[in-house]
Amino acid sequence: MTDIELLIDFHKEADRQGPGSSEETLKALRFIQSKKNKPIKIADIGCGTGAQTITLAENIEGEITAVDLFPEFLEKLEAKLKELELDHKIKTLKADMANLPLQENEFDVIWSEGAIYFMGFEEGIKQWKKFLKPGGYLAVSEITWLTESKPKEIEDHWNKEYPEIDTASNKIKQLEKDGYSPLAYFAIPESCWIENYYQPMQARFNAFLDKHNHSEMAKNLVEMEKAEIRMYKKYKKYISCGFYIAKKV
Ligand code: SAH
Repeated sequence: MTDIELLIDFHKEADRQGPGSSEETLKALRFIQSKKNKPIKIADIGCGTGAQTITLAENIEGEITAVDLFPEFLEKLEAKLKELELDHKIKTLKADMANLPLQENEFDVIWSEGAIYFMGFEEGIKQWKKFLKPGGYLAVSEITWLTESKPKEIEDHWNKEYPEIDTASNKIKQLEKDGYSPLAYFAIPESCWIENYYQPMQARFNAFLDKHNHSEMAKNLVEMEKAEIRMYKKYKKYISCGFYIAKKV
C-alpha cells in the first residue's frame, strides 16, 4: 500500500475528511438561498465522503454534482445517498479539481469545503469561475490566519505546509481581484475541529492500527495525525478554516 492509499483507507471511514459542521454549511448556504427560489445546480468540489453534500441536498431544490479525485470516497457517499434516498439529487463525478470536465456557465453555485488548498486558493478561484453562471455564487472554506501576527512555530509550520495561507482580508482581496464580489466571511468554530473532526479521528486510531497489523506506515500516519491535533490545540487562537461566500460579477 502506498502512503496515499493508506491515507484514503484511514479517512474514508470518517463522516468528514476535514473540519466543519452542518450548521456552518447552512450558515454559508443562507447567503445564497435567500436570493433564489428556483431549482439550482451546485458543484461540490473535493466532496470527500460528502458530509456537506448531504446537508446541501437536504436543504436545496435542485441538483448537486459531487466531485472528488478518489473513488473510495465517492463510493462511501453513494452508499449513504441510497440509504437516505437522495441519489436522485446528487450525482458523483471522479475528476481532478484542477482539470474539471464541467461545462462553462453551468452552475449556480460552486461549493468546496476544506479542499481548494490542494490546487491553491488563487488558482482554484480563477479556474472555477468559468463554470459559474454570471451572478453565480462561490462558497469555499480555506485555512486562514485569524490574526495578523502569530507565534513563529505555527507560522513556520503552515508556511511550509501551505505557503498560500493568509488572513481573511488578503483572501477577500484575492476574490475581488479575480472578478468576484465578496458577500460574507466567517471562521468556523473550534467544535468543527475538535468534536466533528479530531475526536472521531482519535476514536478510529486503534481499529486502523489493528487492521494494518501495526505496520510502520500505519503507525507513522497515526503519529502524524496526532502531531496535527497537538498543533491545532496549541495554536487554535491563530488559525481556523474561513468560509468565503462571493458572487461572480
Ligand atoms: N469536503 C470534504 C472533504 C475535505 S478533504 C469535507 O469537508 O469533509 C479534501 C478532499 O479533496 C478529499 O476528499 C480529497 O480526496 C479531495 N481532493 C484532493 N485532491 C483533489 C483533486 N486534485 N481533485 C479533486 N479532489 C481532490
